[in-house]
Amino acid sequence: MTISMARVHLPVLHAPPGGPGMASLPGLAPGAAGVPINPLLDRFARRIRYLRISVTDRCNYRCSYCMPEELGDQLAFEPRAALLTFEELERIVRVFARLGVRKVRLTGGEPTVRKGIVQLVRRIAAVPGIEQVVMTSNGHLLGELAGPLAQAGLSAINISIDTLDPQRFERLTGRGDLARVTEGIAAAAAAGLRLKLNAVALRGVNDGELVALCRYAWSLGAVPRFIEHMPMSGGALYAPEAELPAAQIRRTLEAELGPLVASQPAARDAGPARYWSLARAPDRELGIISAMTEHFCDDCNRLRLTAVGALHACLGHDDAVSLRDVVRGGGSDDDLVQAVASAVTGKRAGHGFERTGGGAPQKHMIGIGG
Ligand code: SAM
Ligand code: SF4
Repeated sequence: MTISMARVHLPVLHAPPGGPGMASLPGLAPGAAGVPINPLLDRFARRIRYLRISVTDRCNYRCSYCMPEELGDQLAFEPRAALLTFEELERIVRVFARLGVRKVRLTGGEPTVRKGIVQLVRRIAAVPGIEQVVMTSNGHLLGELAGPLAQAGLSAINISIDTLDPQRFERLTGRGDLARVTEGIAAAAAAGLRLKLNAVALRGVNDGELVALCRYAWSLGAVPRFIEHMPMSGGALYAPEAELPAAQIRRTLEAELGPLVASQPAARDAGPARYWSLARAPDRELGIISAMTEHFCDDCNRLRLTAVGALHACLGHDDAVSLRDVVRGGGSDDDLVQAVASAVTGKRAGHGFERTGGGAPQKHMIGIGG
């Protein structure tokens, strides 16, 4: 693994009290009147239908591009009391569902390390209006949890697997165990969960395995997806030399698999990936999340909530509105709606990621959950 760690000087994971980005709600006192007519429609006519919730900032892995072991004491986790409780999360999801959100993704950190995650899935799946509860996981605990999660109402899962080589996997994830992850993937497939397998595509790391990762996913009925390496953490973990642009990923795949044909966007559930299929085998699909080289911000339909209740309108910017302050400050559901509306109003046209690693937000991928 060659990603440079030379520039790592990360701030603690939690924002300082009243710190950057955690805006208090402009002009909103609990009970304020004037709830906007369509709080989930932004200034660029993008309609939000999808909420990603990070349920914990903790993780059992230490991926080099996300939360490497070397950071050690430089990272501080949020105290447990700071995390939204299940009651608070359910209340917030009810408000979002009332406004038109239909899909919730649970992420982390690693969502499966949050105690009671099966119960949380059950609660969110039962919220009227929520049609899909899905998850992103590293797969380590899915051998035990995939079945119970599916029974609780989880309908799909994205599992991260960057390499099929056990030693490389261990190096890349710090403490990962490839055998456990493949077991987790098999358990998810057996539980009937719709399955996507995500790999961050990194030059000099796993670029020789792109076709093998596709074949592995297809053998399980899963859709492989490749994610362009993104600069988070103020750019501290970004390695421009490891960037593998979407066009290069496609060229590499086409060299072995033949021409790729773009899938109809309308045929896909809304998300940041662009989907392709093999011209010679249209049922073989793959996705590429090309945040860096082929922006998809015009179609963005999502908001992100951190484990401590900070609502972020964009992965690539640090501004956030604290829903936890509203909930714990005795705010009403209308106050929550106003808080959501203020985040949506502030949603930027696009992220500011630069291919040099500049334009990176200070926040950490492990805190926001991808
Ligand atoms: N722990 C879970 C997992 O690994 O799937 C969920 C959280 S993780 C932050 C969500 C996704 O973000 C994973 O697929 C991970 O590979 C990806 N990711 C993390 N850091 C990234 C980075 N700097 N650039 C691109 N993707 C990244
Ligand atoms: Fe943990 Fe996922 Fe980040 Fe890896 S990518 S350190 S598994 S949160």
